[in-house]
Amino acid sequence: MKKHLIKSIALFLIIFYGALLTGCRRSGNNKIKFVTSCYPVNIITLNLTENIEGVEVINMSENQNGCLHNFQIQSEDLKNIEKSTAFIINGAGMENFLNKVVYEIPKVKIIDSSIGINLIEEETECTHNHGDGEHHHHHHESNPHIWLSVENYIKQVQNVTNGLIIVDPTHEKTYKENCEKYIFKLNELKNQLSADLNELKGKDIITFHKAFSYFAKDFGLNIAGTINDEPENEPSAKQISAVINTIKEKNIKSIFTEPQYSSSSADIIAKETGVKIYTLDPAVTGENSKDSYINIMKENAKTLKSALN
Ligand SMILES: [Zn+2]
Repeated sequence: MKKHLIKSIALFLIIFYGALLTGCRRSGNNKIKFVTSCYPVNIITLNLTENIEGVEVINMSENQNGCLHNFQIQSEDLKNIEKSTAFIINGAGMENFLNKVVYEIPKVKIIDSSIGINLIEEETECTHNHGDGEHHHHHHESNPHIWLSVENYIKQVQNVTNGLIIVDPTHEKTYKENCEKYIFKLNELKNQLSADLNELKGKDIITFHKAFSYFAKDFGLNIAGTINDEPENEPSAKQISAVINTIKEKNIKSIFTEPQYSSSSADIIAKETGVKIYTLDPAVTGENSKDSYINIMKENAKTLKSALN
């Protein structure tokens, strides 16, 4: 208890000190600094801040090699967020770590990119050990991987644009122009993907984790199974054998791993069933370039075509 209190005070001092520094800096020059929680919203923000002088965009989780599911926020991250013009998040439950710390950053303006997006509700089975034996839970959660639907991603771009205009109204015109320009490209991408994937409608796919639900919904693919519902840990033997059964039952010929995670469980499944392994990228890491979301999605479409034809 006492230890916890000391920790809280220390954290408070760190944050307070951070706020003082910000105060000084802001009065000196009006530097705009956006912190993004993860890769998809980082790419959105890079596109929307094009041609705005002196703007800084920092991705909080750039060293994270995967989704934010088990992200541990550090005091350094909180300091960065505290000093930002706004903190831009994916939303839809991807930043669950914020629940525990949001009271420590009361003044931060948070832009939630998921507003107004219809979420897919899913049931996940979890096994936890609370020290008194293993517990099995069924979690009913919304799937946070909204950006893998291009339609949703376009909505996210619009939501972030609206947020940026509120926190930085001087650059309203440029934000709106950048938004239009990016959405034009994204509509082209959407049309191209629809044309490319049209012939694959109704096909079963097995992905690594539950990242592709929105993508599959957009293009009429059926997620027949996932290899690992908790991608930070190795999947259970039970989950692996469930996938193997699905592959045999549905006569599935290929499975998909993700570049961010180990393929060792997929290798086991391939050995057992003879399926071929391909890679689908959930766009949670990658190049720090404005077109990288578009490039990743095009590459995914190419992979699906060669794997499922
Ligand atoms: Zn994920």
